[in-house]
Amino acid sequence: MTRRTLLIGAGAGVLGVLLASCTPEPAPTPTPTPDRSPSPQPTTDTVTPAAFARSSWATDPFALGAVSFTPVGTQASARDALAAPVDDRLFFAGEATDVDAPGSLAGALRSGDRVADEVLRAGDEGERIAVIGAGLAGATAAARLAASGAEVTVFEARDRLGGRVHSVVDDKAWPFPAQLGGWLLGAPDDDLLQTLEALDVRAAPLAGAAWRSADGAVEPVSEDPVLSAIAAAQDLPTDVSIDDALTRSGADPAEPGLAALLAGLAASGGADAADASSWFPPPFPPAERTAPLGDLGAVFDRLLEGVKVSLSSPVSRVAYDEAGVSLGIATGESLSFDRVVVTVPLGVLQGDGLQFAPALPFGHRGAISELATGHIETVWLRFDERIASAGPDAGAEAGAEAGADAVEPSIWHVVGGDAMIRTWIDLSPSTGQNVLVGIVGGAAAAELAALDDRKALEAAIASLAPFLDAQG
Ligand SMILES: Cc1cc2nc3c(=O)[nH]c(=O)nc-3n(C[C@H](O)[C@H](O)[C@H](O)COP(=O)(O)OP(=O)(O)OC[C@H]3O[C@@H](n4cnc5c(N)ncnc54)[C@H](O)[C@@H]3O)c2cc1C
Repeated sequence: MTRRTLLIGAGAGVLGVLLASCTPEPAPTPTPTPDRSPSPQPTTDTVTPAAFARSSWATDPFALGAVSFTPVGTQASARDALAAPVDDRLFFAGEATDVDAPGSLAGALRSGDRVADEVLRAGDEGERIAVIGAGLAGATAAARLAASGAEVTVFEARDRLGGRVHSVVDDKAWPFPAQLGGWLLGAPDDDLLQTLEALDVRAAPLAGAAWRSADGAVEPVSEDPVLSAIAAAQDLPTDVSIDDALTRSGADPAEPGLAALLAGLAASGGADAADASSWFPPPFPPAERTAPLGDLGAVFDRLLEGVKVSLSSPVSRVAYDEAGVSLGIATGESLSFDRVVVTVPLGVLQGDGLQFAPALPFGHRGAISELATGHIETVWLRFDERIASAGPDAGAEAGAEAGADAVEPSIWHVVGGDAMIRTWIDLSPSTGQNVLVGIVGGAAAAELAALDDRKALEAAIASLAPFLDAQG
């Protein structure tokens, strides 16, 4: 268990118990009542989870942010420039190199397949290939290359596989692993869904959305005005941000309903609408998604079975010439290879922890500085009892919308107020467990990441206010 999976901040009272124990005693929870009249802001004194986990990708030295995004004014082709091989010695993969689905599991996986093809075309059978990074892109590439007869070594800075996919397995705290990184799958992720099925990783369907403000249920906010504003902005002579595109269309991005919708977009793409390009916009997440409920580490174990993997081995230097590649590992070792596949996140390439000698070509450096790294953070809360819901009629509404039996909506949107986390996933309808997952993107995610554990938990509880059944 990592520090982040268990709160260890200082404090007294009921929260102190949670902070100090792996298996906190069931904490008193308020009695649900149908009364949804505006109530005082909930605090960790009145609403205490039995388990809490959070991510902190913003400060993680081997991520330095959550996902890449295309900022206003940058061409998506910067990703092709980043993906271009250098002298047939250096090859690049990772979500940031995928033009069609950057910032996603699908994009990472596809980039791993693409780069394996490139390396195989450039080299001969049995070559020594190094892969830097054991995330989805690196593991996919390494598996393909090893299966084709290459002598592959994967260097991974962390002491675990998976990179920005991170399942926290702790049976005492969670009924299923808490996912601190990428996990939700939609229609384009069929390959991954099949892999999970083959590995017997359970998955829950997520569908239906509830929108609530402090005053009660709010009409669902449609994506259509945003999509129309983006479509209109795509005809402009210069790129504008999604915020600007909306303003030009007569909409107010600060209007609470629209702001909650845009917060949901930031929670999946990592970028605020004020920063994201309307020429190359992040897609809205699909209405129906699947939440894997198992240890996603199994995917990486399977991919890297039989492949030589060196964990806790941060690569600090990549030197290359026409004869080959030499890697400097932070532990002091230096190793030679025929070719290397670099899959570290864009945030790492933008930092100074990984040096290239000679320096990368201008095309690569231009792409690295033009593309942006966005923020997404996740909080997981488990309660001993059901303390929050989408509201008494939400199930009926969701069922009516879908023309199906009443099913409680899985996605919650917090409208108005000063909530830091506006997008929540309620896993109780699909799992029967009182687990809520808050996802926040853009500047609010960076703000959350800067808080200590106690304040982050307080921000999460306060954000949930419109959905709390009652507060004691
Ligand atoms: C909070 C969050 C939620 C997300 N939600 C979703 C989602 O629901 N659905 C979805 O499709 N996508 C989601 N994503 C995006 C998805 O997780 C990523 O796009 C994908 O995992 C990236 O894979 P990758 O292989 O490109 O990079 P990574 O997984 O980051 O792999 C790169 C690897 O390189 C390693 N590394 C870094 N520096 C060095 C070094 N110097 N030496 C050696 N190794 C190094 C890292 O430790 C890492 O293991 C989410 C991401 C985050 C952060």
